[in-house]
Amino acid sequence: MPLTAKRHASLSWRTLLPWVVGVLPVVCGMAVMNWQVEREMQASSQATTRQVVEHVERMLDNLSKAANALLPLAGNPCDQAQLMLRAQVTRNAFVRSTSLFRRNNLYCSSLFGAFEEPVNPGDYVDGQLWLMDGNSVTPGHPLLVYRASDADRGAISTVDGDHLLTALRLIGPDEVLQIRVGNAWMGQDGIVHKGVPPAAASANVLLGSTRYPFSVQGGYAADHQRQLWRSHYPALLGLLLILGAVAGLVCRWQIRRAGSPRAELQRALEADEFLPYFQPVVRKGDYRWAGAEVLMRWNHPQEGLVRPDLFIPYAEHSGQIVAMTRALLMHTAQHLAPYAGLLEDGFHIGVNITADHCRDLSLLDDCRTFLQHFPPGRVVLTLELTERKLIEATPTTLELFEKLHEIGVMIALDDFGTGQSSLNYLRQFKVDYLKIDQSFVAMIGGDALSVHILETIIELSAKLGLGIVAEGVETDTQRDYLARHGVEYQQGYLFARPMPAAQFLEALATRPGALRLPQAAPPEIMRG
Ligand code: C2E
Ligand code: CA
Ligand code: CA
Repeated sequence: MPLTAKRHASLSWRTLLPWVVGVLPVVCGMAVMNWQVEREMQASSQATTRQVVEHVERMLDNLSKAANALLPLAGNPCDQAQLMLRAQVTRNAFVRSTSLFRRNNLYCSSLFGAFEEPVNPGDYVDGQLWLMDGNSVTPGHPLLVYRASDADRGAISTVDGDHLLTALRLIGPDEVLQIRVGNAWMGQDGIVHKGVPPAAASANVLLGSTRYPFSVQGGYAADHQRQLWRSHYPALLGLLLILGAVAGLVCRWQIRRAGSPRAELQRALEADEFLPYFQPVVRKGDYRWAGAEVLMRWNHPQEGLVRPDLFIPYAEHSGQIVAMTRALLMHTAQHLAPYAGLLEDGFHIGVNITADHCRDLSLLDDCRTFLQHFPPGRVVLTLELTERKLIEATPTTLELFEKLHEIGVMIALDDFGTGQSSLNYLRQFKVDYLKIDQSFVAMIGGDALSVHILETIIELSAKLGLGIVAEGVETDTQRDYLARHGVEYQQGYLFARPMPAAQFLEALATRPGALRLPQAAPPEIMRG
């Protein structure tokens, strides 16, 4: 069964399925890739944030070490402690300055020596850590201050905000990072803000230190995911698209292959793809064309010309053969009627019919319509019956055949001798012609038994007064043998192959009396 070539524009599952099959791997692949990107981002954000926490903890270790070393000096006069304050600044890499306080009053600093400035313990988270946006020495410049206290005395050490900024910028250059101390936070802009920092667009992580009262928030900006896609996955995405296209195309091809014969035939019928081909039937003696058999061809848009035995059985099985034959009769009339002058009177047009045509009287109308296209008596329509599907002798069938005869339509028994009910048919229906099957014609020149069968069929038809047509005549020997034994009509490649209407009409016009027309009808090229 040939494949479906074109569908009428309906959004059926057959149209949608290949798209779904094609798009599915792309969508699934992209979902997996997206999940992987998100996982990678989350893991990397977590790692970076942890690194920043650890780095800031290392700074605070420096600060805590300095402040705790100075704590025993708190309360001592500044001129005694000053040298120690400076020594701690020198010894600890991250410590920018150190100070001592007593009763909420900072009285000694590594920078200025004796000094007076109030301190507020409430500024320090857990009394320990303060992220400030500047002091009197460097206003507007962030500082992280560590405070170690003992009753109302204590020591303070500071780290420059630049160290924090470097950590935020260098450890996670692609990330958005903020350090939070209580209600204050500093981002990669190096400015201390109040409140809660905005969460990152993706892979947001908040990690607190277990040793100091601060936390670090990390994550990625909105367009980072897109950048990752662009840099990591173009090849994989291309592969997915190719895979999707291949899957979709394979699915489409499979659906077309599996298209139901019924739907396929219906489509072809609507697209007018069934054509009549004509094979001449010649008369004994002068071998002029006395008629022609109409043989159906499927002009499939993709498969080319398809042999009838590949699709007629489906059409018979589904009952669509009736509509197909009706269309074939109409096309035959349309092709031949304008050139009816080329046909001799009583020119036989043989059309193959099956049991399905005999279920009601509609065939009668089809035949009548066909004959109306021609001048009265110009053509004789002969219906060729085969035994593929048994025709039952019901009252309707008998009435049909009777009425067909009344309007001059003849009945031929096709492939005579091959089926079991050939003789039964002869008894039940008024038959006008027997068409001897080509298998018998091929026996000519063969063994004696085969030749006897053939001769018996010829004799039987003579005794019953039936006309006889021999099919499949391919050689001069067969032609002459059949002529000698009184077979009146012959049909076969020896005379002409089935040909399209234009060629048939051209041959009729140019060589009406030709004995053989081998060149007029070159072999058909058909798909099977
Ligand atoms: P069929 O009715 O017996 O038609 C004769 C077949 O023999 C045709 O095959 C014809 O091309 C082929 N043929 C003619 N001369 C020779 C020859 O010398 N040698 C050989 N080897 N073959 C020859 P085709 O056209 O392929 O048709 C096959 C069958 O399909 C037909 O057998 C007929 O049973 C069926 N068919 C064709 N058209 C129709 C149709 O319109 N309706 C129905 N119901 N059946 C059709
Ligand atoms: Ca036939
Ligand atoms: Ca036949």
